[in-house]
Amino acid sequence: MLQNVVIVGAGPVGLLSACLLVDEGISVTIIEAAADLPRDLRASTFHPPTLDMLERFGVVDSMIAQGLICPTWQFRDRTEGVVATFELGLLKGETNHPYRLQCEQWRLGEMLLERLKTKNLATIHFGMKAIAIRQSASGVEIDAEDADGKAHMLTAAFCIGADGIGSVVRKHMNVEFEGMTIPEIYLTLSTTYDFTKAMPDISNISYISDPNEWFVLIRTVGLWRALFPVDATLTDAQVTSPELAEKLLQGAAHLSHPYDVKHRTAYRVHERVATKYVENRVAIAGDAAHVNNPLGGMGLNGGIHDAYNLASTLVEILKGAPVERLGRYERQRRKVAQDVVQQTSMRNRAILNTRDPASRAAYYDELRRTVDDPVAHKAYLMRTSMMSSLKDVASIS
Ligand SMILES: Cc1cc2nc3c(=O)[nH]c(=O)nc-3n(C[C@H](O)[C@H](O)[C@H](O)COP(=O)(O)OP(=O)(O)OC[C@H]3O[C@@H](n4cnc5c(N)ncnc54)[C@H](O)[C@@H]3O)c2cc1C
Repeated sequence: MLQNVVIVGAGPVGLLSACLLVDEGISVTIIEAAADLPRDLRASTFHPPTLDMLERFGVVDSMIAQGLICPTWQFRDRTEGVVATFELGLLKGETNHPYRLQCEQWRLGEMLLERLKTKNLATIHFGMKAIAIRQSASGVEIDAEDADGKAHMLTAAFCIGADGIGSVVRKHMNVEFEGMTIPEIYLTLSTTYDFTKAMPDISNISYISDPNEWFVLIRTVGLWRALFPVDATLTDAQVTSPELAEKLLQGAAHLSHPYDVKHRTAYRVHERVATKYVENRVAIAGDAAHVNNPLGGMGLNGGIHDAYNLASTLVEILKGAPVERLGRYERQRRKVAQDVVQQTSMRNRAILNTRDPASRAAYYDELRRTVDDPVAHKAYLMRTSMMSSLKDVASIS
């Protein structure tokens, strides 16, 4: 009887699933198409419950040492300034980490990988991509190809598809990725300029609303990241040109000299949720199962919450629970993706770019009323920090 799990994809979701499984005595094989873990600029926000989950893997102290603790975050109006400042300290007693942590996701990936390398139960194949998945009542077969084009076949009791937005595993489950593509490209620029010089009252995480051009400013150690929506009809070269970067940053805060830009990353953003997360012994998690806009930092965090739920469920099954228990994973986590992650990130985008003055004023009033009322303020933080969603679905069986 097979007792191992093959994980397709060594992103944060695959690596975290692997850590949890090996800690419970289950052997895992990870196959990763890339030659190594990328150090590219992606998510950097970790919410309180995610840090609570990561604590057992001994990585949080190191993430804090390499990152930036953010006790507040803001909604601002581009012209008027602060609309509402949210105080994560109100979550004291609910979490061991009443703050957001800014720490680039690749740092977590590297720490989890190092941890796995010390475990006999983990095997990792870089430069190997999954091509096809077949399953029977008792196991799964994964056809893979290495960097030399050599074919491999892996067998497992279960397969986790943590292979990101273009998931081969999801395609082999014949599952629709329902939703839409946002009609703009997101351009992320990182700069050494310290935006507190131009906006002394700015929080380390600030969403800046404007009827013509909203943007987001997020501070990491040594750099600020600015995210702008740009016209999707521009060519890739135009989107990532130094000229556009300079124009956008000068619009955010005018300097008498050019900005020192360290990174420019452009990407298309989708709002999609897979119609199914589980097919017998194969399950998808993270970006393979759901994608959303980054406004609120819910994609990576939601993926980590999936990994935790899915790997814990597989432990239960491999220790005797019925295979059907995987259905609970799908019912709980798909509901969060649909009802919380998609709704919140789409609403955040709507608040930021609504043009109608009356709607803008109503949004702003609502945000101000929320922070002025301690009960509403805490409830809002529980929701946007993804703590309520974990509690709300815990009773779904
Ligand atoms: C450019 C960019 C910027 C982003 N910025 C933000 C942000 O600012 N805020 C935010 O919250 N989120 C952001 N995201 C999203 C965030 O990075 C993802 O939610 C997160 O990486 C999801 O983790 P994952 O492990 O599910 O998937 P991924 O990190 O995508 O990992 C999937 C892995 O699977 C591998 N793989 C794919 N196919 C195969 C195959 N057939 N066989 C083997 N391996 C395979 C890939 O090489 C990859 O390593 C960004 C994403 C991108 C692309």
